[in-house]
Amino acid sequence: MNIGIVGLGLIGGSLGLDLRSLGHQILGVSRRSSTCQEALARGIVDDAGVNLSMLAAADVVFICTPLGAIIPTVEELIPHLSANTIVTDVGSVKTPIVKAAAAIWPNFVGGHPMAGTAESGLDAAISNLFAGNPYVLTPVETTPANAVKVVEEIVRSLACKFYLCSPENHDKAVAWISHLPVIVSAGLIDACMHETDPNVLELAQQLASSGFRDTSRVGGGNPELGVMMARYNKGELLRSLQQYRHRVDELIAHIEQSDWHALEEKLKHTQHSRPEFLASKNF
Ligand code: NAP
Repeated sequence: MNIGIVGLGLIGGSLGLDLRSLGHQILGVSRRSSTCQEALARGIVDDAGVNLSMLAAADVVFICTPLGAIIPTVEELIPHLSANTIVTDVGSVKTPIVKAAAAIWPNFVGGHPMAGTAESGLDAAISNLFAGNPYVLTPVETTPANAVKVVEEIVRSLACKFYLCSPENHDKAVAWISHLPVIVSAGLIDACMHETDPNVLELAQQLASSGFRDTSRVGGGNPELGVMMARYNKGELLRSLQQYRHRVDELIAHIEQSDWHALEEKLKHTQHSRPEFLASKNF
């Protein structure tokens, strides 16, 4: 299959590596020609350039640009495509993207691979980034069944755990498990860095170990991606943050009132809930 990838960064480059190794012909388009040259040199693509016109021969195009560039890219791409070309994206928010893209290109299937690292750009692209991780497609009523089937087959060939849901439910769910954790983790790092005693701050840094490493990890990721998630999923992110603030206020009240029993009950509940929530995961 001829597969086009627009945006040769962490996700686009990693997709190129895996799909090319599966025998597909990969046509890459990125913003900078130096990135295209690098993708060719690393064997991530068969051909690459900065013009979307080179995707005229693609059967399926993956849009892997930052969120804000997805719709402008689809608009710019359309004049170069034949009517049966399938376009999909990997954006971390789905409702506004799917709504706008499906209106201008009916053969559009929203998608989101739940995989990533703290790095960004083509240098961060790696093989097997997606294997074993969830990959969700978010078709709407008007999405042709065949387009979903074709993208599903590609996703399954990456050894992903495949899911289907509505764009709206996707955005509600990822607010809880992806977008809220980024903001909470960023708040943790920020609060810690506001320690006013430099000796205490230095000591905290020296004593920090795996607990702080794990809880601060997602707050130390790509800022551009974090802002885009918040901008595009503002309503659901605020809803989850307000619920989170309410829960933190409850915990503060238990501690202020020295209500150790209530605190223990809460921590017993979270200790019990975490393995249940993550039961199907292999980490
Ligand atoms: P990234 O590493 O920054 O890669 C995006 C690449 O797109 C950039 O390196 C840039 O390459 C290129 N680009 C930027 N604007 C472009 C444009 N207008 N046209 C063509 N290429 C353009 O970002 P990423 O982490 O791969 O994220 C890409 C998409 O994946 C986002 O929509 C994000 O929501 C989604 N996503 C990210 C993760 C994650 O954890 N990172 C996980 C799942 C989904 P050059 O400037 O070098 O050409």
